[in-house]
Amino acid sequence: MSQGMQLFLCARTGFERYQAFMSPDLMRKGWCPSLHAPMQTHDGWLVRVTPDPEGLSPEQLAFLAEYAARFGNARMTLTSRGNLQLRGLDEVSARDFPQLAAARGLGLADPEAESRRRILFVSPLAGKDSSCAPETLPLARALEAALISFPPLWRPPEKFSLAVDGGGHLPVGALRADIALRHDCGTWRLCHGPFSELLQPHELISATVVLLKRLTASRGMPRALRSAPPFMAEVPPLMGQFLPGCHGVKAVLGEVSAASCAGMARAGISARLTPWRGLILDQPFEAPDLMHDPADPRRLAEACAGQGGCSRGQALTQRDALSLVPDLGGRTLHVSGCVKGCAVRDTRDVTLVAQKDGYDLIWHGTTADRPVESGLGVEDVRRRLRQNRHEGRTPP
Ligand code: SF4
Repeated sequence: MSQGMQLFLCARTGFERYQAFMSPDLMRKGWCPSLHAPMQTHDGWLVRVTPDPEGLSPEQLAFLAEYAARFGNARMTLTSRGNLQLRGLDEVSARDFPQLAAARGLGLADPEAESRRRILFVSPLAGKDSSCAPETLPLARALEAALISFPPLWRPPEKFSLAVDGGGHLPVGALRADIALRHDCGTWRLCHGPFSELLQPHELISATVVLLKRLTASRGMPRALRSAPPFMAEVPPLMGQFLPGCHGVKAVLGEVSAASCAGMARAGISARLTPWRGLILDQPFEAPDLMHDPADPRRLAEACAGQGGCSRGQALTQRDALSLVPDLGGRTLHVSGCVKGCAVRDTRDVTLVAQKDGYDLIWHGTTADRPVESGLGVEDVRRRLRQNRHEGRTPP
């Protein structure tokens, strides 16, 4: 039997297993996607990969690029949790993807184990940054093993997160999670919500497991992340060469084309994903949709899929965001296809929320804030940006 046929049969078997594991409406609209739970969107099916903390190999990049180009819309979205999504797949290719991906080390073939592994994220410079705690990766591996060995049927709540934050070039606390092991002043702390406790090295895994089980035991318990103190330090731009063997790039509007991904694979590049929709490459690589320069003004713009990519999108958000870049004058911009604000939860200098009759405009806020104006077209927004900049005023 050919390897292709074996993988095809393996994919079918895997799909049946995850159907049994997940609820019957697994592939319904609105499901928070993961490797084994594709989500139907306006532009087809979406699949999500949570890469290994040590990144994607050239072979894995080649597989993703080919799959996105053959079966998807030839683009890959980077998420704010360091995941990667392929969009525009048909149902068969979305069903086949998990096992094909797992066979290449892009997640685990067992849906239950994968649902646990994917809650864990790790300092993206661990093992590359000499100032990041050297035990960061080993701790993450031990936690991953502990999670996978949890009792059958234990499942983390939706969007629950667990971080191993080794500090260093990225300031401690930059990884936001419900539970975080943070390396602080030579010691490790277990942090959850407003609480933290100092732990001895031999206590780290067992204490995290006990806390994790306690926090996830009762349904409806508020997520610890919501009560965690805000992160006040600056995350360095992670663009260009910032450490030996670390070449940071950011994808324009958080999307990498299959062509760029295939180019990286051909160049033998390995890549790690960051929670800031960036990539850390082990060699320099140039492509039109990858930004190297921390002064590139396109880095200021963010937008969700919008109209054509999401059924709730009321405007071509990505086109409009890029069109406004020359008028930003250093201000950050979030263009959202509706009030949900999937692309950005935090405050931006300028937030536009598409409605049926035009954009709502919010200065220094989020999509949840009250707009100062409504019903604006892109040229209306441009005029306000220019006026505001020329008058040298801080927006109200
Ligand atoms: S913000 Fe609205 S339009 Fe944009 S992706 Fe989310 S649900 Fe869709």
